Amino acid sequence: MTTAFFTHPDCDLHQEPPGHPEQSARLVAVRAALADMDLLRLDAPLAREADVMRCHPAQYIARIRAAVPAQGWAQIDGDTYLAPGSMQAALRGVGGVCAAVDLVLAGGAANAFVATRPPGHHAERDTAMGFCLFGSIAIAAKHALDHHALSRVAIVDFDVHHGNGTQDLLWDEPRVRFASSHQMPLYPGSGATHEVGAHRQIINLPLPPGSTGADMRAAYSAHILPQIDAFAPELILISAGFDAHRDDPLANLNWATTDFAWLTAQICDLADRHCAGRVVSALEGGYDLRALAASAAAHVTVLKDRGHDRYASQ
Ligand SMILES: [Zn+2]
Repeated sequence: MTTAFFTHPDCDLHQEPPGHPEQSARLVAVRAALADMDLLRLDAPLAREADVMRCHPAQYIARIRAAVPAQGWAQIDGDTYLAPGSMQAALRGVGGVCAAVDLVLAGGAANAFVATRPPGHHAERDTAMGFCLFGSIAIAAKHALDHHALSRVAIVDFDVHHGNGTQDLLWDEPRVRFASSHQMPLYPGSGATHEVGAHRQIINLPLPPGSTGADMRAAYSAHILPQIDAFAPELILISAGFDAHRDDPLANLNWATTDFAWLTAQICDLADRHCAGRVVSALEGGYDLRALAASAAAHVTVLKDRGHDRYASQ
């Protein structure tokens, strides 16, 4: 069975001031890196407001919509901007991950990768921050639970920054096991190991600056992977940020492209064991264009090979 790839040209309309690291060239690089792969290519649909409201109040959505400028940029946080196309782009992000969940749960694809922007994992319930407007991965988890009646969804966030938004949106959600690895200290400053959620369902794995891929593999093997395994998820979502790469300009971890492939394979192993290989991955960060493209390609290559293997073995 195939791997689905969701993206949309509307996501290029989310423009930020020149020099901002979260630039539309990121998606151009990711699409180019995946251009020759045999993938099921689909447009990310616009989310309905009701989807976004699974995690954000209507007043917050209205506030973002009202802040969208007719031209130029509107700054809504220290490093978060809106352009005329930003609402459209962010709704494609939410819609893309929810559609990917629908497709994979329906058996229309083995797994899926969703490349949209802006990213989502820093957006809290009432607060846009860290380049993010809506918490797409948390919304998709709620969608899987409430729309598809699942009872156990796992999220692995390997972006180099803590997924504070996902943690905020799912703090009191016992049906989601959220695991985030991240450099500490680093923006946004949260993600200490004692932050465990209202039901001890959140796993935070801070990594010191300079950590290597070998350090990451040991830490995941000791902490996150066994706990996801014990949770026996019915679906695994990934917040796939590639800014832990050694070449990324925003952080100081030393992962290589092969480390992203290793971690993807480990997550696919857990999905094979518990949920028929069902994985939906969504792009978060990654700001060195070359490292981003190579790492995303390595990630999707593993998803594709694993999806194909499942089909071959059936
Ligand atoms: Zn990041």
